[in-house]
Amino acid sequence: MSILAIIPAAGSGTRMGGGTPKQFLSLEGVPVFVHTLRKFDAARAIDDIVLAVRDEDAEWVRQALAPERFSKPVRLTGGGGARQDTVARALAAVAALPEIVVVHDAVRPFVTVEMIERAVETARRDGAAIFAIPSVDTLKQVERDVILGTVPRERIALAQTPQAFRYSLLREAFDRALADGFQGTDESSLVERLGFQVTVLRGSDRNIKITKPSDLPVARLFIALEHESRGSASAE
Ligand code: C5P
Repeated sequence: MSILAIIPAAGSGTRMGGGTPKQFLSLEGVPVFVHTLRKFDAARAIDDIVLAVRDEDAEWVRQALAPERFSKPVRLTGGGGARQDTVARALAAVAALPEIVVVHDAVRPFVTVEMIERAVETARRDGAAIFAIPSVDTLKQVERDVILGTVPRERIALAQTPQAFRYSLLREAFDRALADGFQGTDESSLVERLGFQVTVLRGSDRNIKITKPSDLPVARLFIALEHESRGSASAE
């Protein structure tokens, strides 16, 4: 059975202050989501890719994909009102049932091929796997600018994508969330609600989510570092 990647890229990017959605911003002349797709194309574990975009972006996205010589099929599906709705639409469009589904934000182009492979391997073994990093900041619970409490940081992990699941488990989690009217901001939260134990893998500080204008200079630096390490690897 196959391994499917779902890349939600249907956000409207309002946190960037309107304008171009962050997944379509250009990094070194290439849109952010294309950088992300290149990683999934290079990951041997992935068989098919579904890219979810808003209908009004589909034509532009097709044009941006045209010059890419991807080795595997990239299918487009539509977007939904919230991220969860977008992923639900992509899951509903699945034709042949995959063994594993890997969901990854289009706006995290610094995921590595190794992380993708590890997510798949772990989901095969444990059923569900996500990447997360420890919090270096102290976390406060706040209501209307007043602190309600301090959350022990040792017990906190900041969730990233990729998040990988057995298809049957993810399907059940989405069905249950829909039935209960639950909206989560990642797929893992839907699976956790089933009482399933999700394995946490150590994420990467480089695997940033491009969300706000100040992320762009950092993203340019990371792209340059990727080029540099590729250059030194091919010189060896
Ligand atoms: O909005 P958020 O920061 O959670 O976005 C994470 C990813 O989900 C982005 O790649 C964004 O394009 C995508 N998204 C989506 N559909 C939405 C909202 C966000 O595909 N309705």
